[in-house]
Amino acid sequence: MAGNAIYELSGVSRVYGDVAALAEASLTIRQGEWLSVVGPSGSGKTTLMNILGCMDTPTSGTILLDGERLDRQGERELAVIRRRRIGLIFQKFHLIKHLTALENVMVAQYYHSMPDENEAREALERVGMGARAGHLPRQMSGGEQQRVCVARALINSPSVVLADEPTGNLDEANEQIVLDLFHQLHDEGTTLIVVTHDATVAAQGQRQVILRHGRIDQVVETDDYRRAFGAAAVDGQVA
Ligand code: ADP
Ligand code: MG
Repeated sequence: MAGNAIYELSGVSRVYGDVAALAEASLTIRQGEWLSVVGPSGSGKTTLMNILGCMDTPTSGTILLDGERLDRQGERELAVIRRRRIGLIFQKFHLIKHLTALENVMVAQYYHSMPDENEAREALERVGMGARAGHLPRQMSGGEQQRVCVARALINSPSVVLADEPTGNLDEANEQIVLDLFHQLHDEGTTLIVVTHDATVAAQGQRQVILRHGRIDQVVETDDYRRAFGAAAVDGQVA
């Protein structure tokens, strides 16, 4: 239900040698929320994203996704959770360069369940890339490649989309196209967690988590967040 916790983090740390990339992070993220994660380079943004995205596990602390403990799962279990529930978007696209846009989306389907060309075409149409289905990544601009990545991320109808600097390699016009897609997803109830350096991108979120030296330094809520989730959201219940 919208407003319930999708993620609950309690004292989550990720230590590499003697570096705490993430230190004692406690945070509740709501279903349907658009959360921005900001902070200087090296502050732990990608580390947090990797843990939320089931690509890494904390060295201590607890993290729940839809009430299920992630910190106790092995790699294989995490991969299953990731495929079923999480859509990932990266700054560097990570498209397979010798496959077309359509084939790149179908690879994601293959890992999720079963390739379905019609569904893959629909996903590309949704991001305005239907006419480019047969094009290779090098035949597309950065913005177009990122739209293919959004289509790829949506293939499993994820309840949460995690994006790490999704507009970092895009010009302003393409940044706007990607943000428009994010607004559509948010309007449809998808939870969005977006790591960004860009103040314009960060300002689209309903809350901003500001990381410094691996710690959550500040959480800034907008009025929109309060309207959507209210004071009652604090204890995990929304009437
Ligand atoms: P950000 O995404 O905010 O730039 P990161 O989460 O990538 O920050 O990194 C946070 C800190 O953790 C940095 O000091 C970085 O050097 C360190 N770090 C990240 N990943 C590793 C790793 N695999 N091994 C060792 N140190 C790491
Ligand atoms: Mg990073």
